[in-house]
Amino acid sequence: MNCRHCHEPLVHTFLDLGFAPPSNAYLSEGDLNKPEVYYPLKVNVCNSCLLVQTEDHAKADVLFTPEYAYFSSTSASWLDHAKRYSDMIIKKLGLNSQSFVIEVASNDGYLLKNFAQAGIPCLGIEPTDSTAAVAEQLGIPVLHEFFSEVLGKSLAREGKQADLIIGNNVYAHVPDINDFTKGMKDALKPGGSITLEFPHLMRLIEQVQFDTVYHEHFSYLSLHTVCSIFSALGLRVWDVEEIPTHGGSLRVYGCHEDDARKTDQSVCVLLGQETACGLQTLNTYVDFQPRADKIKNDLLAFLIEKKQHGKKILAYGAAAKGNTLLNYAGVKPDLIPFVCDAAPAKQGQFMPGSHIPILPPERLIQAKPDYVLILPWNIASEVKLQNALLKRNGARFVTVVPELAIS
Ligand SMILES: [Zn+2]
Repeated sequence: MNCRHCHEPLVHTFLDLGFAPPSNAYLSEGDLNKPEVYYPLKVNVCNSCLLVQTEDHAKADVLFTPEYAYFSSTSASWLDHAKRYSDMIIKKLGLNSQSFVIEVASNDGYLLKNFAQAGIPCLGIEPTDSTAAVAEQLGIPVLHEFFSEVLGKSLAREGKQADLIIGNNVYAHVPDINDFTKGMKDALKPGGSITLEFPHLMRLIEQVQFDTVYHEHFSYLSLHTVCSIFSALGLRVWDVEEIPTHGGSLRVYGCHEDDARKTDQSVCVLLGQETACGLQTLNTYVDFQPRADKIKNDLLAFLIEKKQHGKKILAYGAAAKGNTLLNYAGVKPDLIPFVCDAAPAKQGQFMPGSHIPILPPERLIQAKPDYVLILPWNIASEVKLQNALLKRNGARFVTVVPELAIS
């Protein structure tokens, strides 16, 4: 396979997690008696442009099925994040009723509704019909398509170039990052801005967040790689911020290469930090696997030891990252009998691969566990607060990233 950005042959492995089913392929009871499809879950690093990327085995249409539908508006903290971003960017760019905003992967309108309410014309792009329909009910126009260069060109032809193109947690999830970037270039008005949010590779490496690797997550991005992709395709990063979402993300601001705006000092500062963290050195990438393996081994040793001592261990949060961790470690219901999740759509289903049943959170209280493994470590403090009763009943909380911790 060749690099998706610069097309050099890929010869260096960043992380090999064996075989796993797609992390969002939750199973019904009936599915448990059927065969399950596993794909290699392997991530390479390009030794020429240092783009970290999954190997292409599972195709996007297998990964993003209609059942995949996740409604962004179900998360209160995500809605708050979207509102704060909207208020900030409207002010920062001086957007008004004469402006035009496009959001790629607009989901159920969780974000664009803030622009619509401010009287700013907007357009969502969202291939999943069920979520797009919710946005349309809010009065937000939506194109039911995947974003691409072809779509960017057609928007430009129709005079629909945007003053602002938003891509929150979509850039790392597109299979063809060059095509997507060309589409943004075409759909961007002269003088317009792009903002993209994605998990920061520097945090993934520093904090050993190897469980954020899954098939749908095609690219693992640093500011360096985004700057090179932008610059190769006629765009420029003019500002960047670090934000706390997903264990540490970047919000990158883009414009046309020849835009009059000066590049903010923050870009140079963060590029320097990445270099200091070794992100421009191939060895940093090829040394990552043993650090991930240690976390997996520590988890297994903990689960086996506690089980041998007759302790009951349950899990909280049927998140995608939990599936990566449990499947890499080969954990099955004998070690963790069930996982609880607050999302009603997941309750009654089973985790892909591990086949651990997903139950409502009240079952956790009834079961009186000795330990509760919190799988989505990025919301661990929120989970601990909401489940303080468990702790009063003697349970202890366990997280494994960046290292095994019991509290
Ligand atoms: Zn490359």
